[in-house]
Amino acid sequence: MGNIRLKNVSKSFAATTVIPGIDLEIKDGEFVVFVGPSGCGKSTLLRIIAGLEDATSGHIEIDGRDVTNEAPAKRGLAMVFQSYALYPHMTVRNNIAFPLKMAKMEQAAVDKKVTEAARVLNLTDYLDRRPGQLSGGQRQRVAIGRAIVREPSAFLFDEPLSNLDAALRGTMRLEISELHNQLKTTMIYVTHDQVEAMTMADKIVVLNAGNIEQVGSPLDLYHKPNNLFVAGFIGSPR
Ligand code: ADP
Ligand code: MG
Repeated sequence: MGNIRLKNVSKSFAATTVIPGIDLEIKDGEFVVFVGPSGCGKSTLLRIIAGLEDATSGHIEIDGRDVTNEAPAKRGLAMVFQSYALYPHMTVRNNIAFPLKMAKMEQAAVDKKVTEAARVLNLTDYLDRRPGQLSGGQRQRVAIGRAIVREPSAFLFDEPLSNLDAALRGTMRLEISELHNQLKTTMIYVTHDQVEAMTMADKIVVLNAGNIEQVGSPLDLYHKPNNLFVAGFIGSPR
């Protein structure tokens, strides 16, 4: 399951309030996109959900369990980092297996999971290569593979495609959407790219200066924007 609930979550860094207070419900299996301009608090909010950052106040619940004070590893979520977070000296197989080895899973079970993740991600023929011998898209798939093997209740993506070129971004967008269709696992996807938001999301959360301006489907936001900010942000071409 992957129901995630934020209850009046706020965040301040020293005297600066970055997120005044957010309430949000994410349902199991949803593909939710946090979108908004640079500096609006998208990464901070995602990191609070992941447990990589403490909220200043408020509560985070996963499947009804209060995880506000729980360590990241116990939350059952997987953060997908940009592909450059791969270990360059390790093979694809070992990069994907890494979190399982850290968890001291036995080798046969590790092999099984890596094989399955590679199948889903079309990486079967590349398992013995190193990241330097892969294309940008393949590297990004390895980064996703490292998350898949943990069988998380939700995947958290922070601008995973921002260091890829435009053509590859388009391909990876489709691949991640297809992955969601296959796995049907909750995904929270952070981007400042309106096109990614509109094409990938079941539900878009539009953020502005740490506040939610609107939550809705791409069609809702397009046809019934709450205000000029949403209309301008969603409507304006890049
Ligand atoms: P986004 O991901 O939407 O670009 P961030 O969540 O990274 O925005 O940042 C939101 C705001 O919080 C920005 O003003 C940023 O400078 C500030 N911020 C983020 N992390 C820290 C930190 N560790 N210390 C101080 N300020 C921070
Ligand atoms: Mg960010």
